Amino acid sequence: MTKKHVDILIVGAGPIGIACALECKKRNWNYVVIEKGALTNSLFNYPLNMTFFSTSEKLEIDDIPFISNNPKPTRNEALEYYRRVTTSNELKINLYEKVISLNKVKDHFNIKTDKSEYTSKKVIIATGFYDIPNYLDKPGEDLPKVMHYYKEAHPFTLQNIAIVGASNSAVDAALEIYRKGGNVTMIIRDKDIGPRVKYWVRPDIVNRIKEGSINAFFNSEIIEILEDSIIIKTPQGEKTINNDYVISLAGYRPNFKFLETAGITFSKDEKHIPSYNPETMESNVEGLYLAGVICGGTETHKWFIENSRIHAKQITEHIETSVL
Ligand code: FAD
Repeated sequence: MTKKHVDILIVGAGPIGIACALECKKRNWNYVVIEKGALTNSLFNYPLNMTFFSTSEKLEIDDIPFISNNPKPTRNEALEYYRRVTTSNELKINLYEKVISLNKVKDHFNIKTDKSEYTSKKVIIATGFYDIPNYLDKPGEDLPKVMHYYKEAHPFTLQNIAIVGASNSAVDAALEIYRKGGNVTMIIRDKDIGPRVKYWVRPDIVNRIKEGSINAFFNSEIIEILEDSIIIKTPQGEKTINNDYVISLAGYRPNFKFLETAGITFSKDEKHIPSYNPETMESNVEGLYLAGVICGGTETHKWFIENSRIHAKQITEHIETSVL
């Protein structure tokens, strides 16, 4: 297979990978983005009816206006925006091609994908964190009734649903399914709803639990999932409740193995933050940059589109100082 050569290879076409591509395009650089799924694949897989917590101008890249019907855009509006930015700027993005490995040899990188091979002088990793769920690691988790992503409420009408987690995703799913006629039980590891739950949603979930419309077990965890029930460990002892579906929304984590094999090192604590220079976003491997939410390690709430879109400019301004 002949290797294709580019000066800059960007892994991941999420909002931040697209922002990096735009900066490369403006400079007339020889770049390509490799994306394993659809354009903005993470956003594409978000719940169908989700609304962003950010207002649309905070999700803009390169000051290209993002017009939405309401101040906070919906998933569909965001898909439309990033699609439009990509097509009208004719960004070079290869979709449905997965980067399998990348390693540095002398002054360049060798990149293998499931379709091709590339060499590149610089690489930007913008692979996000949404592909690997935090699993429960409990018996029965592999049953078909267990899900780690939530799309929409309709299939769960008149069903007994257990939702694991108490963060924004779990709370939004619980409220939506309850309002579409599902019988929802939340299983929450801590003593309260997550501290980062949107301030305008918190009273809704707290009051639905208080009035008993949504059941909740606090300081509790699932210990086994069976065909038509689940066993929960609670402070009052073990309980078995009827169950049709389990939706585990206990967060996601970056693909640390992929970063490790590229030579990136990590903080020694449980945060597992990859090593990079916060001014240039260059990792401990010279010429290899990190962009977007991947930078947070297990602290996946730390970076989001609003505060990481700036990485694209930081990286390209640093690359500009070196000879391509
Ligand atoms: P991603 O969007 O995750 O993009 C990474 C891309 O890399 C994906 O398309 C993936 O398919 C691709 N990829 C991964 N591995 C490979 C590989 N090996 N080869 C090729 N491609 C690969 N942020 C905000 O700022 N405001 C909000 O209101 C907001 N709301 C959110 C609501 C929900 C429900 C969730 C889950 C997140 C929300 N966020 C919000 C966070 C935001 O969506 C993420 O921060 C954003 O997607 C990060 O962009 P990214 O480009 O870094 O990563």
